[in-house]
Amino acid sequence: MNTLPPSADETAENSQPMPQGVALLHNPLYNRGTGFTAAEREAFGLRGLLPPRVLSIEEHAARILENLRKKPTDLEKYVYLIDTEDRNETLFYRILIDNMEEMMPIVYTPTVGQACQQYGHIFRRPRGLFLSADDRGHIAELLANWPNDDIRVIVVTDGERILGLGDQGANGMGIPVGKLSLYTACAGIPPSTTLPIMLDVGTENETFLNDPLYIGLPQRRLRGAEYDAFIEEFMVAVTERFPHVLVQFEDFANIHAFHLLQRYRDRFRVFNDDIQGTAAVTLAGLFAALRLIAVEGGPRRRLGDQRLLFLGAGEAGVGIADLVVSAMVEEGLTADEARGRCWFVDSRGLVVQSRDDLQAHKLPYAHDHPPLADLAAAVEELRPTALIGVSGQPRTFTRAIIERMAHYNERPIIFALSNPTSKSECTAEEAYTFTGGRAIFASGSPFPSFKLYGKTYYPGQGNNAYIFPGVGLGVVVSGARHVTDEMFQAAARTLAEQVTEADMAAGRIYPTLSRIREVSAAIATAVAAIAYRAGLATQPEPADLPAHIQDFMYKPDYRPLV
Ligand code: NAD
Repeated sequence: MNTLPPSADETAENSQPMPQGVALLHNPLYNRGTGFTAAEREAFGLRGLLPPRVLSIEEHAARILENLRKKPTDLEKYVYLIDTEDRNETLFYRILIDNMEEMMPIVYTPTVGQACQQYGHIFRRPRGLFLSADDRGHIAELLANWPNDDIRVIVVTDGERILGLGDQGANGMGIPVGKLSLYTACAGIPPSTTLPIMLDVGTENETFLNDPLYIGLPQRRLRGAEYDAFIEEFMVAVTERFPHVLVQFEDFANIHAFHLLQRYRDRFRVFNDDIQGTAAVTLAGLFAALRLIAVEGGPRRRLGDQRLLFLGAGEAGVGIADLVVSAMVEEGLTADEARGRCWFVDSRGLVVQSRDDLQAHKLPYAHDHPPLADLAAAVEELRPTALIGVSGQPRTFTRAIIERMAHYNERPIIFALSNPTSKSECTAEEAYTFTGGRAIFASGSPFPSFKLYGKTYYPGQGNNAYIFPGVGLGVVVSGARHVTDEMFQAAARTLAEQVTEADMAAGRIYPTLSRIREVSAAIATAVAAIAYRAGLATQPEPADLPAHIQDFMYKPDYRPLV
């Protein structure tokens, strides 16, 4: 794998031949609309096809923003933004990058969740590839239809567990589309080198099965050996078609997510964001919370001193615990000691050895303890220092539970990570109010800042977007053959280090989103350094890795084309 072009911008702008005239105006990769200069209009046969006034990218962005902000609902803003992306990707990314805090909740959670639920009804143009159960035996032929050979990052889903919304079938395509726009906006992966893929294996969602506008196959899901064979055919074909590609598994149900990751992580360049990305962003939040407590003059505590109680023992919860355990082991604990510090409550109560209903991924965390029926009982018994909600069940961190956390801890760590906002285990306001302002809080979807006792609180967003774009960039730049746990641990530590003194003074445990490109570049540097050190890299090691990464990052601008 030594065919990397010298810079990302060249990839974005030269990977496909430059169309002319009307075809150019209809090609979102190259189109600039009223941003084409007089010289470009002359050169590309555009004279007369555009009104005479030429706009700079800043003026162009201002026009889009003016219209966007007039839209009455977030879903309408989403549709308008995707339309902008479909017309002019350079402008779309410029708007995203320059207005990250405002745009992220529209192109990603929570609005993208609504978009998926109504995908068939708001559908305009296809984006990416739809590979369905009917295409079995022909996946390689369908992949050959994609026009660009140089694909570096694929996000693929089968739509079975979209955010906390459950089975959205083919409508789940909104998620790979949204995640890939974050790869570009947050980490500068050139948009032409990204590809969203929907594996449509059917759906169990009755609403969609009965909806004539549902975009996917109106049939039940493939299961068992048929499902596995379909995924195997896809993985072999996609890595042959795009040999440099990093494949991110996204929003698969946990019955598949763990074993797909195990099956493919040593064969191909893959990772699962719901397991590994979530783990890293949460571990970063824990590291930053401990830093915050120390900065405030509280006790200096190690991660290994914490007792974590998870509500929800699925992909996110077990993924977080596995990475926490590896970080505790690095601090000097044994793996058994570290696992003993992570406890789980699932829909049937405390996860303990005497239960006979536990799936394999929960077994390492089934401790020798009498059964407990629910979270409230577990908080009383275990007195956790941190409570982590990854259950998809709204309002399960009740007032009584939050108050008990505050009773046992000076600075209770409360992370309500379920997405979208409607599924959050508690709101930011509840966490702060019921702890007298002492909670260190983070959520999965954003909550607005909140004033209590004259002080403004900035709820942290444990958004995977802090992690996966940077990890992906590091993997792409180094050409790492595999994505390792060590890389996610390094990503978590780097993210926690990016939290500034000013952030902490405001009670923040994640950097502001406006700095996300800087943060992603730092994470990419740490990840690529591991690939080089571990002998996993397939790209030559640059003399100045941070500078090389900066150079690689796509920066949307109207650079002169003639
Ligand atoms: P999952 O389906 O794999 O796991 C859900 C778990 O919750 C299961 O163990 C289930 O038994 C448990 N559960 C269900 N009902 C419960 C109840 N009433 N009480 C206790 N436990 C219950 O899903 P997942 O991938 O682990 O995701 C869970 C949630 O975490 C989703 O809402 C998702 O949006 C969120 N999440 C957030 C982030 C983030 O904030 N960065 C990242 C990934 C996932």
